[in-house]
Amino acid sequence: MRLLMVEDERRLAHTLATGLRKEGYAVDVVHNGLEGLETARAYPYAAVILDIMLPGLNGYLVCEHLRRDGSEVPILMLTAKNGEYDEAEALDTGADDYLSKPFSYVVLVARLRALLRRGGAVRPIALRVGDLWLDPVSKRCRRGAADVRLTAKEFAVAEALARHGGEVVAKADIIDEVWDHAYAGDVNIVEVYVRSLRRKLDVPFGRNTIETVRGVGYRMVADA
Ligand code: CA
Repeated sequence: MRLLMVEDERRLAHTLATGLRKEGYAVDVVHNGLEGLETARAYPYAAVILDIMLPGLNGYLVCEHLRRDGSEVPILMLTAKNGEYDEAEALDTGADDYLSKPFSYVVLVARLRALLRRGGAVRPIALRVGDLWLDPVSKRCRRGAADVRLTAKEFAVAEALARHGGEVVAKADIIDEVWDHAYAGDVNIVEVYVRSLRRKLDVPFGRNTIETVRGVGYRMVADA
């Protein structure tokens, strides 16, 4: 589960991110509202932890822009000013929950878990690359209207490529995302899975959407 934290208090951001990583989340941290908005738009995060008072663009506006884009990513707002007004406004702009600073780390983790559970149940964050559709929650995969059955590892490799749709993903990065960090085997295992993905996702549909970038890795494109 990948989270985005938009928080300009660097020490607080660092402490929270370190704790969340220990809980097993991947956490991207940015310190500016504008950057937060761009980052949130660029990647299908499982949730966003969003401070209100931020340089660049305040948290209310970041939230509003994301909702206007149609994003349904669960947003937990951090309200610093500590008043009913802020909290009401946080929810008005489309945040799912808020937490008043100062808060305890334990409470943050609990609220985040609740948010992810709710978010996971009602709005799975599906990935799309062209007419390929992957739902990381149910592990279902479709090409156009056709269901495609993938094994767990095939799905995970497809997901790693789709998350970076259009960009080259290095074999080592796929290993990092799909296999355990402790994996010490041959990185060429990725080739085996890419081959079976092509057999299932491309060949039957007359496509060629998983490109090999020699010496680097693979790129999933919408169509080729
Ligand atoms: Ca702040």
